[in-house]
Amino acid sequence: VIDDRVVVVGGGLAGASTAIALRRAGHSGPITVLGDEEHLPYQRPPLSKAVLKTASGIDALHVRPAAFYAEHDIRVRTGARVVAVDRESCTAALEEGAALPYDHLVLATGTRPRPLPGAEGCLELRTWADALALRAALRPGMRLVLVGGGFVGLEVAAVAAAIGAEVTVVEGLDRVLRRALSPEMSAHLEGVHREEGVRIVTGETVSSFEDGGVVLGSGERLPADVVAVGIGVVPNAELAAEAGLVVRDGIVVDDELRTSDERIWAVGDVARFPCLISGRDLRLESVQAAADQAVHVAGRIAGTVAGPYRAVPHFWSEQHGRRLLIAGVAAEGDEAVVRGDPASGPFSICRFAGDRLVAVETIDQGRDHLAARKLLAGDTAALDRAALEDPGVALASLVARPVTGRA
Ligand code: NAP
Repeated sequence: VIDDRVVVVGGGLAGASTAIALRRAGHSGPITVLGDEEHLPYQRPPLSKAVLKTASGIDALHVRPAAFYAEHDIRVRTGARVVAVDRESCTAALEEGAALPYDHLVLATGTRPRPLPGAEGCLELRTWADALALRAALRPGMRLVLVGGGFVGLEVAAVAAAIGAEVTVVEGLDRVLRRALSPEMSAHLEGVHREEGVRIVTGETVSSFEDGGVVLGSGERLPADVVAVGIGVVPNAELAAEAGLVVRDGIVVDDELRTSDERIWAVGDVARFPCLISGRDLRLESVQAAADQAVHVAGRIAGTVAGPYRAVPHFWSEQHGRRLLIAGVAAEGDEAVVRGDPASGPFSICRFAGDRLVAVETIDQGRDHLAARKLLAGDTAALDRAALEDPGVALASLVARPVTGRA
């Protein structure tokens, strides 16, 4: 109903985007966004990139300026932590004591860095405050150890190396970004980092954190001025679990992004949903998921969208001036076919589950990436695998043209 009260728990990109999309969809009822940080909703991707090398303020990162929320009658409350959801009375209780009634509740509570026992004194990177602390610590010649060869570890490594730091990345698995990328792309990125002077140690974990460095399982001691940890995230799903919603490494939602309570939705990296593109049950930690899921749920609440959520997952990263773009989601073990020569410039890697295209990883190949998103949105069973594997065939040429009838 157009006048329903919507309460959004979570002041990140997913939460803010839900509120913005609700107004765009014509919803006229009260909208409240509750965020526990002291800032207006902001974009996190620059925190591990530009923010670390430039003395910029947070304003440039805001999803919208304060005036936008005022103009659109969206109440954004910062420093507001929700401690309980009462599904009987349909209220969200704030730590400070107030209880906000809702007709629709949207959980956009996100994730938090996975803690590493023993590493309590180390830096991590999730929030603006974390990025400022890391930025203040980076300087030429300093020794930085990054625990975790995921997106945070590698992006920070690239920036720190460019500043002139001596950087070592310690990854527990046998290759970096193992869960996200093909072995070929991991190997390529490891090569790029090594060329740029970053030391990458794989198959190793830190056995102890000491003053002035860390000790690896192998016994090697790595001296460090600063140690930062990026070993993945934990979904902030406790609120949902305590409210009796179904939770399994994230808040479980159906293909419309609705939780086990029909008045409660979940969006962004806390939501575990059945992905209609990949056929897999996923929790996606990406800007794309936050933004697209927000638009979907807003449309459902406003009554402008019908049917299930269906969007092609995609991701990007930047390391040492290379742009990594990923369309789709592959599982470990999915086959990888390289198009082009990684040693000599831009290239793409098609991932196949059986004969079906499930993802395309590209380096500096924006056109292939956009084409891949279109291909993955369509009927992948109808794609010609030989053509996909042929670097002489542009992926864009395989995208079905709309039937326009006879001229
Ligand atoms: P991540 O990308 O999930 O990578 C964490 C890496 O650390 C994984 O390879 C993980 O292996 C490894 N690891 C786990 N425990 C370890 C240990 N004890 N010692 C060494 N390595 C260990 O997570 P993240 O880099 O921490 O990033 C945090 C969040 O920010 C993620 O949601 C990420 O997607 C997001 N982010 C995204 C981007 C982007 O998309 N460009 C950029 C920055 C941040 P396992 O797989 O075995 O756990």
